[in-house]
Amino acid sequence: MILELIKADITEINVDAIVNAANTSLLGGGGVDGAIHRKGGKAILDECIQIRNKRGGCKTGEAVITTAGNLPSKYVIHTVGPVWNGNKEEKSKLLADCYQNSLKLAVENGIKTIAFPNISTGIYHFPKDKAAQIAIKTVKDFSVSIAIDKVIFVCFDDENYQIYKDILEIENK
Ligand code: ADP
Repeated sequence: MILELIKADITEINVDAIVNAANTSLLGGGGVDGAIHRKGGKAILDECIQIRNKRGGCKTGEAVITTAGNLPSKYVIHTVGPVWNGNKEEKSKLLADCYQNSLKLAVENGIKTIAFPNISTGIYHFPKDKAAQIAIKTVKDFSVSIAIDKVIFVCFDDENYQIYKDILEIENK
């Protein structure tokens, strides 16, 4: 599995699946969620509403999949990150679950290339360095077992990009 790091808008990335940092309602919100629904169009929201009607939204740490509407990717995997409130162990486990459940769903759907945003580090205020450590470790641990060719960490802000760059460079030394 190749790991890539880029600074970009995730709605412009051409991969099999991009991951959305959604909320439990699946009805869209601010940040990356808003950008994905705005650019992806109504098809994504319609599918989210169907999932919501069937199973009542998406719990924190879990993931669901839709097509990608007008976006260049084929699918959007919607996962709900934890809101940071200082409960380190519980919230860290839930953030790891987001990455793990998204990757599981990707494998089940034959997805070979996947792009992740920095889940929970915006409106949900998870500490960025801690979130990056969890994201990278969870993806690397998962990579031993499976069929995904490439994972791209897509950072939107300079701070996250620098944090990821430092961790990945240290680990590759
Ligand atoms: P959360 O509620 O999970 O914190 P946010 O969308 O507020 O979700 O933020 C998650 C991360 O997504 C933040 O690091 C933010 O900078 C980033 N982000 C916001 N817009 C985009 C975008 N268009 N592409 C990629 N990342 C984005």
